[in-house]
Order: sequence, then C-alpha cells, then structure tokens
Amino acid sequence: EAKAAGKNIFAFYHTEMTRQARRRLELEEALTTALARKEFVLYYQPVHDVASGRLIGAEALVRWQHPEWGLVSPNEFIPLAEETGQIVEIGARVASEAARQIRAWTELGLEPGVVAINVSSRQLARGHFPAFLRSVIEENGIEGHRLEVELTESSLLALGERTTDLLREIRETGVQLAIDDFGTGYSSLSYLRRFRVDKLKIDRSFVNELQVDGGSLGIVKAVIAMGQAMGLQVQAEGVELDSQLDTLARLGCDSFQGYLRAAPMPAEQFQKLLGASQSQQSEG
Ligand code: C2E
Ligand code: MG
Ligand code: MG
Ligand code: MG
Repeated sequence: EAKAAGKNIFAFYHTEMTRQARRRLELEEALTTALARKEFVLYYQPVHDVASGRLIGAEALVRWQHPEWGLVSPNEFIPLAEETGQIVEIGARVASEAARQIRAWTELGLEPGVVAINVSSRQLARGHFPAFLRSVIEENGIEGHRLEVELTESSLLALGERTTDLLREIRETGVQLAIDDFGTGYSSLSYLRRFRVDKLKIDRSFVNELQVDGGSLGIVKAVIAMGQAMGLQVQAEGVELDSQLDTLARLGCDSFQGYLRAAPMPAEQFQKLLGASQSQQSEG
C-alpha cells in the first residue's frame, strides 16, 4: 500500500514537473516572439521631492503588452528572462526607449528630471554595459545625469570583484546609481563606501510596515541617517499613506514614489503630468 502511494506521488511530481517545464518553454518562446514584435512598453512612476512635493523624475518599469494576455507584469517574466538571458535584450530595449523618451520630452520643452531604469546583474555581467550605456546616451543626444541605473544588493554581490570597476565606469558616463530594494539584501557599510552610489531606495516592505512595526521604523530611520551621513540621496518606494509620508518627511527622506501620489502610468499620461506640473510652477 505504501509502495502504491509512493508511486502515485512520484507520478504526480512527474506530471507537475513536465507541466512546469512545458509552461517555461512556452513562456520563453513567447518572450522571443515578444522581442521580435516589440511588445515591451515602459510605464513611468512619478518620483516626488518629499519636502516640496515637486515632481522630480520617474522610474521606468517594463510591461509586456501581449496581444491576448493583455498587460503582463514584470514579476511574471523578468525572473525567467534573467535565467534564459533574454533579459539582456529586454534590458537594452528598456534603456534605449527611456533615453529616446527623455529626448522626446526635452524637445517638447518638458523637464522630465531623472528617469531611473532597473538593470539586472545578468545585463551588467554580459557584454560591455558601461559602453552600451554610453552609446545609448550619445545616440539619443541626452545628458548622462538624466538617467539613473537601479541595481539590487544581490546583483552587486553576484558580480563579485568586478563590481567596483563596473560601477565606476557607469558613473563615468554621468549616469547616476541607485541601490534598489535597499535593506532586503546584504550591503555592509564598507560596501557602500567602496561602491560609491548616489542613492539608496528603501524597500517598500519597510515603508509599508512603518505604522504597524516599530522595527521597520527603526530601519527606515537608520537608512535615512546613514544616507545623510554618507552624502547619499534616500528615496522611499511604495508610499501609500499620508502617515507614511509624514514620517518620511520628519526623518528627512529626500524623495518618494508610491500609490499615494501615482501608480506607474503610460508615457502619454506621464507627459501630461509633466506639462501640468511645469505650468503650475511657472504660475507661481
Ligand atoms: P522595483 O524596481 O522595486 O519597482 C517597484 C515596484 O513597486 C513596481 O512594480 C511598482 O509598480 C511597485 N509600486 C510602486 N509604488 C507602489 C505602492 O505604493 N504600493 C505597492 N504595493 N507597489 C508599488 P512593478 O512595476 O510590477 O515591477 C516589479 C519589479 O520588476 C521591479 O521592482 C523590478 O525589480 C522589476 N522590473 C521592472 N521593470 C524592469 C526592467 O526594465 N528591468 C529589470 N531588470 N527589472 C524590472
Ligand atoms: Mg526599481
Ligand atoms: Mg524597488
Ligand atoms: Mg522591488
């Protein structure tokens, strides 16, 4: 009887594994098609200055506009694209498109501020990422400091000894560097000193728990204080409540993004926001 049960379990796992492998293969093929058909689009989430409330830039977030599935979240396909290596091509598209869009907005007389893109360790590790960035900047005729590259602590660790050189070469293009989801990984103080980034982005899990969890308040406080002491910008992500923004303001956090002000939106909508915020400022 036990043997039979074991057999069934094996059969179940077997089918489950086959199903998953098949689904993975399908998704991988669909990503290849998506690249060919140019189905990736960028959404922009506004970034605001905490003290003044002013719009100071955006984070560009990729979405997959699938003809049948609709808008697919990056959480659904970035992890697989990282495994298969397709992230290199997707990421290159993201960087080019962000730069093209910055140029287009600037030509319209708009002031897009700093636009951040997310970069996976796989993209950094393969090819010549700093040279690629430089070509994107030059081809689109934008200033390097208009772009910000977001890396996670784990990407930095994954690159090992090459990290310091890579980060220096990126900064030489004028592009700013931010550590994304800060606090969830393994950065040590000595790392931060060695890597010389411009900004720390406090992970939204800490922002989220500001009200309910004293530990999160402590972490947010410490990150802001540390950022200030090291001359780094500190940005909070995932701000959803006024009370969270109040706390961040009190602690001296520089900038924030979150549903409280705006969710990621299509380029046309962000463009309207840029126009509105500029006419507001010129009025007074
Ligand atoms: P991330 O870089 O940490 O981006 C922030 C995520 O938080 C975004 O999810 C954004 O929509 C979401 N978010 C913003 N404000 C709020 C809020 O107030 N509440 C909540 N609950 N969520 C908020 P999204 O767009 O689904 O992206 C998920 C992740 O996918 C990103 O996390 C990033 O790691 C990755 N990703 C997105 N675009 C790219 C890309 O172009 N390249 C790479 N390599 N990864 C990307
Ligand atoms: Mg990010
Ligand atoms: Mg983040
Ligand atoms: Mg995140």
